[in-house]
Amino acid sequence: MMDREPTVTPDPRPRVETVSGSAAVVGVRCGTCAYPTFAALIRCPVCGADTESSRFAPTGTVFASTCVRVRVPDRPSPRGLAYVDLRDGPRVLVETPIDESPVQVGASVTITGVNGFGDLQGSVDS
Ligand SMILES: [Zn+2]
Repeated sequence: MMDREPTVTPDPRPRVETVSGSAAVVGVRCGTCAYPTFAALIRCPVCGADTESSRFAPTGTVFASTCVRVRVPDRPSPRGLAYVDLRDGPRVLVETPIDESPVQVGASVTITGVNGFGDLQGSVDS
């Protein structure tokens, strides 16, 4: 019987870097058509050109949101989830604060970092 090394799958979620107290989502941008993605792709999924490393602004607009009431161990319930279109970057899934109702579509959200589970966390701008 052959021993095999376990397959390590990279975490597919967006990564955040914090520089001087400000969070930024990291990813790549196409050098030709400027398509942004948080996935570490070598080639653009739209036009096939080479991509370049990029950091995206932590602010964006809610595209869609929901309130999750299903209880998951160690997670708050209810909790908010929103797809946020970053101002100069891709659409990302963000855990948002909630008070029994989802964040309004069109609201401004700022990515504040990553929670203990590795999920993007954001706050709603007033
Ligand atoms: Zn492209």
